[in-house]
Amino acid sequence: MNKAYLAEQLKKAAEAGTVLTDEPMSRHTTFRIGGPADFYVCPSGRQELIDTVSVCRNLEVPCYVIGNGSNLLVSDRGYRGVIIEAGHGMAAVENTENSKNVLRAEAGILLAALSHRAAELHLAGLEFASGIPGTLGGAVYMNAGAYGGEMAQVISKADVLTMDGHVETLTNEELAFGYRHSAVIDRGLVVLGAELILKDGDPEAIKELMADLRERRQSKQPLEYPSAGSTFKRPEGCFAGKLIMDAGLAGYAVGGAEVSAKHCGFVINRGRASADDVRRLIDHVIKTVEAASGITLEPEVRFLGES
Ligand code: FAD
Repeated sequence: MNKAYLAEQLKKAAEAGTVLTDEPMSRHTTFRIGGPADFYVCPSGRQELIDTVSVCRNLEVPCYVIGNGSNLLVSDRGYRGVIIEAGHGMAAVENTENSKNVLRAEAGILLAALSHRAAELHLAGLEFASGIPGTLGGAVYMNAGAYGGEMAQVISKADVLTMDGHVETLTNEELAFGYRHSAVIDRGLVVLGAELILKDGDPEAIKELMADLRERRQSKQPLEYPSAGSTFKRPEGCFAGKLIMDAGLAGYAVGGAEVSAKHCGFVINRGRASADDVRRLIDHVIKTVEAASGITLEPEVRFLGES
């Protein structure tokens, strides 16, 4: 593929958005890790994102849609193809006129902004998501959740782009949400936007709950270090962090990657961690926990790129 031709086509599709070449993915992930993507595109809106994906499909160039990069470990060698950010270019939210309890939002809006908007409208039900540092699209993709809430409880439908370029609207049932899982993963879909149904709430109570959850995160999670949140899924009936601590791995490090002693469920970047350090640490944790407890941990963080 002629790189100059591809760049030209991507620029046309992304419209007023940006097209970067050899862009370090460490700039776009909360882990602050990741080698260069051949192309990094931020389309200026929903249609521009659809057109960008279409350019990649027509030219048979691999592409991968990300949100805020808060659940991603990108390899040190980076990504050969086009990373498309469904982010600030598509972050509109509206409160539909026929039902006050319904919010429609584009995939790129951050959950923090969306939950604060809900609070302003006196709508309850999204407080759990206010401290999750991802986009709506990324949250629908993996049914993000915290403190007893999850996206499945509030999403009524989502607009998605299928692999062959069609836009479909899927209902909550069709999204087939499970624990950190959805049909978006199974079918390789791109989330363009979603509709949420929330409940009437007392604005003070909503704000209080959000502040309480923020405080709980700050006191229990190593938010002072780059990470991708909980590294492992919660095994049935127990907590990954406790299993890791009981296996004696608190503070265990490989290169710049470390099992947080504050919360063993988090692998943190102590400053210069490579993706390889993180991968090796994750493998070590899985083997050690398996030997100690018989339970096999499964990574929650998504791996991307050439290893
Ligand atoms: P990204 O990291 O950019 O992408 C993750 C996956 O989603 C990728 O496979 C990507 O292809 C896919 N994706 C992203 N956008 C789209 C889209 N529009 N269409 C299709 N696929 C898409 N998660 C929780 O569930 N609960 C928590 O409490 C929580 N706490 C966290 C705390 C910290 C400090 C951090 C760093 C992370 C935490 N996370 C938590 C993880 C993360 O924030 C969530 O998984 C979030 O939903 C990821 O959204 P994102 O936009 O950053 O997705």
